[in-house]
Amino acid sequence: MSDDRLADYRRKRDFRRTSEPSGGSGGPSHARRFVIHKHDARNLHYDLRLEVDGVLMSWAVPKGPSTDPREKRLAVAVEDHPLEYGDFEGVIPDGEYGAGTVLIWDAGTYRNLSHDEDGRDVPLTEALANGRAAVWLEGEKLEGGYALVRTKRDEGRDWLLIKMADEGADARRDPTGTQPESVATGRTVEQVARDEGPRGTSSGAVR
Ligand code: MN
Repeated sequence: MSDDRLADYRRKRDFRRTSEPSGGSGGPSHARRFVIHKHDARNLHYDLRLEVDGVLMSWAVPKGPSTDPREKRLAVAVEDHPLEYGDFEGVIPDGEYGAGTVLIWDAGTYRNLSHDEDGRDVPLTEALANGRAAVWLEGEKLEGGYALVRTKRDEGRDWLLIKMADEGADARRDPTGTQPESVATGRTVEQVARDEGPRGTSSGAVR
């Protein structure tokens, strides 16, 4: 099943050119992971990824996550990614899909908080299908509840990512501004680009 879910992901990439994982070696994993990549592409954005049913469901968040419950951050649903993508940090070559620098801005585990109006637990897959989900993140930078609410615009691709009012909420924090570095390697996007960028210039031969 996760193989079918990755067809879109694979179609967009040339794995002879990019060091991103092609997927397929990710077995079942117990703790459900979440990762937030900082992606310095044509437009800088953050990619929220939640492990669901053997893949990383993904949303591109232009402004990144907030810790202020009054902030509603646009989160655009993008294609599922393989579980191994959660470990990816590096440079996607020029001319490739998503060309730019990627670092692991936050990572950890999460649990499902989704429930219906009567307070009954709702499985995450179902909650996401219904366009209304909540997760509890235990990351290095982000902690606590976040709601994901699908809007009616743009054929269901647009969601809002909203911090829930709990002990992890803090309107004065600005984590994307004050904590720009990778939780995996401590590097900034500039350092990742310098360490792992192309040695030569783009060949221009691809697409
Ligand atoms: Mn991205």
